[in-house]
Amino acid sequence: MKKFEYFSPTRIVFGEGKLQEIASFLPPVERILVVTGRSSSKKSGALDLLKTSLKEKTLFIFDEVEENPGLETVNKGTHIVRKEKIGLVIGLGGGSPMDAAKCIALLAKNDGLIEDYLGGDKDAYSPLPIIEIPTTAGTGSEVTQHAVITMGSHKKGYSNQGIFPKVAILDPKLTLSMPQDITVNTGVDALTHSIEGYLSILATPESDNVAVEAIRITKEELPKVAQDGENLEARSRMLYASMLGGLVISRTRTIILHALGYPLTTFYGVPHGRANGALIPWALEFLSRDVGGQNFEPLQEKISSIVKIFGDINEFINNLGIPTRLSDYGITQNDIPRFVKDVWGRRNLEVTPKEVKQEDIENIYKRAL
Ligand code: NAP
Ligand code: FE
Repeated sequence: MKKFEYFSPTRIVFGEGKLQEIASFLPPVERILVVTGRSSSKKSGALDLLKTSLKEKTLFIFDEVEENPGLETVNKGTHIVRKEKIGLVIGLGGGSPMDAAKCIALLAKNDGLIEDYLGGDKDAYSPLPIIEIPTTAGTGSEVTQHAVITMGSHKKGYSNQGIFPKVAILDPKLTLSMPQDITVNTGVDALTHSIEGYLSILATPESDNVAVEAIRITKEELPKVAQDGENLEARSRMLYASMLGGLVISRTRTIILHALGYPLTTFYGVPHGRANGALIPWALEFLSRDVGGQNFEPLQEKISSIVKIFGDINEFINNLGIPTRLSDYGITQNDIPRFVKDVWGRRNLEVTPKEVKQEDIENIYKRAL
């Protein structure tokens, strides 16, 4: 059997009403920074609920995290955490605030700016403890050691075992307020984590089981929540599947599909999960093509089991309202060189179960146009 490592230090607390119990999951700290987005956690009442549940503590709120958070936002939050002698960072929101919270917790205990650490060349001491509370069902960031920060027009992943959250509080009620488009986009992100983790060269027998379970649940539940956002049971199962996807990529990372999706977001503003969804058929088609590599047979078996679950995955994605032609997003032939440049050299390609050449990336985008 293949060698592997298993490390999941996050305490996972799942269930309706769990946010209100947060005080019982806290380490002994007084001063807490809450990192959140600009509006949804206020509109939905999630931030008020958190404030009430932590009324015994001294709370600082940093509510300026934008989608696909940039360097400046992280550095701004860092200023507060350093100045106010914070003991714990809570991320409340989608992947964007949760990832920003991780980086801010890191910088609380380390000097410099986030850009010094993103390249992986600066060592970091243990960050402040982190608690993550997702309000989307998509990134699984609440259980991973990964964070994604946008530097200009390039999304950069950062991974460090120190930023594994101490506690993840998954309260499905917090996802009820997502409108249909965000529900679908984030749900498809969760799906791609499970699919990519399943195909990654770092996959293990354990992660495969988790990935397949998450893929099956998403196939059943995502169309239901897309149709009826009030269906709390389906919302719960999607939040569960998204968390499973996070556990998977905490072991396997993501492969070529996530790398291909990033330029759609940075150059065209396509939301993260939607960008990945648009490229699922094209990435799978590339991986299905035989070039005589040694991984070919086991890889095909895995792709066949995905196909068995979905039937036509292209149709599944289209039925959710996500076009799988890049021209539908305004992308043209002229964009391909800069897209290829963005993908080339990404670490995702190292764990993709097939050799990827620069011209392969170009061809995938061309076919997808
Ligand atoms: P997001 O960027 O956090 O949020 C997208 C939008 O959804 C925002 O407008 C947000 O509003 C809104 N929203 C969030 N929760 C809501 C709710 N319950 N009701 C209504 N609106 C809500 O989206 P995301 O897809 O969850 O996160 C994407 C980010 O995570 C990307 O940067 C991506 O690269 C990263 N990511 C990280 C990992 C990882 O392992 N760490 C994995 C995959 C992706 P507000 O801004 O007002 O809150
Ligand atoms: Fe993702």
